[in-house]
Amino acid sequence: MFKPTLAYAQSLDSQDPLKHLRDQFSLPKHTTGENTLYFTGNSLGLQPKKARENVIEMLDAWQTYGVKGHFEGDYPWMPYHEFLTEHSAELVGAQANEVVMMNSLTANLHLMMVSFYQPSSDKRKILIEDHAFPSDHYAVCSQLKHHGFDESDLLLWQPRADELLHLEDFEAILAKHHQEISLILLPGVQYYTGQVLPMQRLTELAHQYGITIGLDLAHAVGNVELALHDWQVDFACWCSYKYLNSGAGSVAGCFIHKKHCQNTELNRFAGWWGHDKATRFKMDNQFSPIPTAEGWQLSNPPVLSLAAIRGSLETFAMAGGIKPLREKSVKLTQYAVDLLQHELAGDIQIITPMEPEARGCQLSLMVTKAGLDGKALFNALDENGVVLDWREPNVMRFAPVPLYNSFEDVYQFVAILKRCLEK
Ligand SMILES: *Cc1c(COP(=O)(O)O)cnc(C)c1O
Repeated sequence: MFKPTLAYAQSLDSQDPLKHLRDQFSLPKHTTGENTLYFTGNSLGLQPKKARENVIEMLDAWQTYGVKGHFEGDYPWMPYHEFLTEHSAELVGAQANEVVMMNSLTANLHLMMVSFYQPSSDKRKILIEDHAFPSDHYAVCSQLKHHGFDESDLLLWQPRADELLHLEDFEAILAKHHQEISLILLPGVQYYTGQVLPMQRLTELAHQYGITIGLDLAHAVGNVELALHDWQVDFACWCSYKYLNSGAGSVAGCFIHKKHCQNTELNRFAGWWGHDKATRFKMDNQFSPIPTAEGWQLSNPPVLSLAAIRGSLETFAMAGGIKPLREKSVKLTQYAVDLLQHELAGDIQIITPMEPEARGCQLSLMVTKAGLDGKALFNALDENGVVLDWREPNVMRFAPVPLYNSFEDVYQFVAILKRCLEK
């Protein structure tokens, strides 16, 4: 049973079948020379050693082969994105033909809206959450504008006083406005609260009303289990530098359900990398899209970034995929909840849902101790080698990641937090 002791944390680590994976990552150092307590995988995942190796291998291939590297070496560049497909598809619960790594997250959201936001004069609204990540909000508003509409065609699903999104409110919006809604775009995991949305149920409801639904999985991929194909999600986009540990700005992922991939009539912004591989180099200017997610590619891909992603995906494969990671994650985050509540219940409020299935690894902590400035506390933690992130107005995000965080990390964090709160 739970005990608030270091020995208990260490016993959980000793029983953890994935504990060896921590050695696959480089941990940033604190000014004291010791490892930091790193809990910011929700923002930028740590560097997998394999990512570094693969990037160096790519630089070497460029040095060795020049242009011939497109076809030579162990991992030729021409098909390089294909080396990522199998593991990417596994992580999001897709068929291989439904995923591709390309561009960046916001760019992919735009490309998907070009294809899946096809408004008519009376069915033209887009539904998002009120507290959407700014980039998603801007992307959606600019798509409305692109079609000659304005923000009066934006519908917002409001969180309640508990900061969370409630399914009944979503149902009420659909019941009232379904005839006007053309597209729904929602996160899999909400970035601020860490709430996991019921993605399958949202998709069913959208489809019952004949509305297209896309998901932003920036905080969900590599964090929770996904089954995009079976859930029938129309499209999804995600970045690779958060829980996928592939380095800042690394290439993003995109899912397009099979039922749409083969529809080559769908409107799209095209580029030569989306064209049929057999005739791509005939240069005859007759666009013939690949009938898979690859048909949405624009450019020949940046292989240095893809090399890092390949290294990261190999590290996920060493863990046995997302299922065992999620099992550990549920235990690790529950342990953090238990310890925080035991040690600091009066001073810290967790706004993330308490049900394990309604959250990923992240806990969003609000400082409730009277007279204490949350930002000052955050800074004090930073000076003590604890890496969290701060989100206005008053939340510290704390994400123990099952690939590289231990139960002892969590124990040390809570001990430091307690000391900082007492000062
Ligand atoms: C991290 C994140 C982004 C970032 O977008 P980029 O295009 O990768 O800069 C966008 N949306 C959400 C929901 C995010 O969490």
